[in-house]
Amino acid sequence: MTKKTLEQRVSVLLVEDEESFIDALTIGLNREGFDVTIARDGQAGLASFSKGHFDVVLLDLMLPVMSGLDVCRSIRATSSVPIIVVSAKGEEVDMVLMLEIGADDYVTKPYRLRELVSRIRAVLRRRSSHEQFEADELIALGNVRMDIDARRCFVDNEEIKLRKKEFTLLRLLLENPGRVLTREVLIDRVWGNDYVGDTKTLDVHIKRLRTLIEGDPKSPTHITTVRGVGYRYEVAKT
Ligand code: CA
Repeated sequence: MTKKTLEQRVSVLLVEDEESFIDALTIGLNREGFDVTIARDGQAGLASFSKGHFDVVLLDLMLPVMSGLDVCRSIRATSSVPIIVVSAKGEEVDMVLMLEIGADDYVTKPYRLRELVSRIRAVLRRRSSHEQFEADELIALGNVRMDIDARRCFVDNEEIKLRKKEFTLLRLLLENPGRVLTREVLIDRVWGNDYVGDTKTLDVHIKRLRTLIEGDPKSPTHITTVRGVGYRYEVAKT
C-alpha cells in the first residue's frame, strides 16, 4: 500500500447552487485529495449533513430554499464541524454575524483554489489540535453520564438501557446544555429521512427519556419543553 491510500481522505460537503462553480471546485478539490459531496440548496445541504460524516462544510450564502445563514445556524445547533462560508463578490455580508453564528472562516468569490485549500487545511489543523484536549467521548452532566464509544448511559451511576434513536437524541441534548434544539433540528439529526409517521414520534422518544432520567417525569427538570419550538437540556440547578 502506498502512503497515499493510507492517508485518510478529507470529506467535504459543498453546499452551492452555481453549476459552473460546482464543477470547477469538485475537480479541483478531488485533485487535492478531498472527497466532495454536493448539495444544491440549503435544505439539501442540511439533509446531506445529517446523513454523512464530513470533515468540513463549504457553505455558499445565497442559496435556494434555505439561506446559508440558516444552514449554518442549524448545523451549529448540533455539530462543531468546521464551516467555511463562501460569499459572492459585492454581497453585503456581516462577517461579525457570520462568525458569531459559528462559521470558522469565510472567503469571497472569486477566489483561487489554492487559497481555499489552504484555508480548509488551516481549519482542520486548528480543529485537530483542539480535539486532542477534549475528553474521549464521555459526556457527563448532572447525574447523567454517557459513554459514547461504548454506547452506554448511566443515571445516578446506574446503567439505563437506551434504544439507538433514544441514545442519539439524549446525546444531542446533552451536548447542547441550556440551548434550545428545535423540533426540526432534532428530527433531522436523529432520524433524517427515516422519520416516518406523525410528528408525535419525537415526543414519544422524549417521554421515554424522561421516564428514565427524570425524578418526576411529569414535571421534568432535565429535558424541558420549549413550547412551539423544541426541547432543551437544562443546566443542572443545585
Ligand atoms: Ca449562490
